[in-house]
Amino acid sequence: MKENTVIDRRGFLKMGMKAGGGVLALSAIPLQLLADDNVTEDEALAQAMGYKLDASTVDTTKFPKRAGDAGATQFCNNCALFAGEADAEFAPCSIFQNRLVTGKGWCNAWVAKA
Ligand code: SF4
Repeated sequence: MKENTVIDRRGFLKMGMKAGGGVLALSAIPLQLLADDNVTEDEALAQAMGYKLDASTVDTTKFPKRAGDAGATQFCNNCALFAGEADAEFAPCSIFQNRLVTGKGWCNAWVAKA
């Protein structure tokens, strides 16, 4: 049996501190960089939902929900499904399996925050 397979209490604590440090380091990385999983406009579901990174580019003839003065106020960051603060650049959206959408984006599933 190898001697270095035995972990004493000090070694165990050192390993725990290293693992904890790794978790802390990961938590300092912005969510959008870690996920690298932003929803893009060319995906099938995004196209079906009319998702745009910039809500001002939505084709309102195809998606009249965003037409007019009331429609122009709709953005991901004021949608009930945007799981982030109102000023967040990106946040998870449950329509897209919690992948990241942009705060200034929009899709046809938009629903006002209560
Ligand atoms: Fe944006 Fe809401 Fe559509 Fe998600 S459901 S993409 S947060 S408008």
